[in-house]
Amino acid sequence: MRTVMLWCCAQTWAATGPYEHAVADRVSALTPPRGSAPICDQIPQAGLASMPDDGVLWTVIDAGRTYAQDVLLDTIAYAARATHRALPGLAPLVVGDMSRPKGGPFPPHSRHRFGLDADVGLWWVGGHQPWPWRPVPVDQLDREATLRFVRHLGESGRIERILLDASLIRALEAGGPVGVGSVRLVGTADSPGLLQPAAGHRDHLHVTARCLSPNTVPAQSR
Ligand SMILES: [Zn+2]
Repeated sequence: MRTVMLWCCAQTWAATGPYEHAVADRVSALTPPRGSAPICDQIPQAGLASMPDDGVLWTVIDAGRTYAQDVLLDTIAYAARATHRALPGLAPLVVGDMSRPKGGPFPPHSRHRFGLDADVGLWWVGGHQPWPWRPVPVDQLDREATLRFVRHLGESGRIERILLDASLIRALEAGGPVGVGSVRLVGTADSPGLLQPAAGHRDHLHVTARCLSPNTVPAQSR
């Protein structure tokens, strides 16, 4: 197990220039060479790190349940920071379950095994995020904050998919185009977008990071 220096990294990004450039650099550094195929069903040799509680930009509900690979921790932190920067006054993003310290089965979740999945809250109209989570009525979703957060996740290039209830995806679409650069947030019949409809996701977003590094250690199994 390792501790993670998110404050260090986030501060470095802020000091060195626009987030977009910093993220682009990190994406290229993390992206595996062409031709290599990372294994995504194990945890990295280096293990998983825990998401530290920030208290302002995000809040961690249970530190023992928020272990993940750096790609996920850094990207959640980046998107939360960028969203707060654009919309001062928002409540902290509520970070729910990621993975257990050594990965492996994490009931009742069917995923969350390899440090690449995170459940995070949704902002309601007024900018708050209640805990415990409860289903967000369509007219109570803070569209601007949610869309910004999702776009920042998308622009990182490090997120595989984001699961959300279909009715809430439609609410996000209702205000106009929701793409970011070349990233398609909402899919078509032919190709899935970053945001994908999933039952059971009216009260939170399920964020899955891309597998960017080879994994060599079997996840804990018990
Ligand atoms: Zn989940």
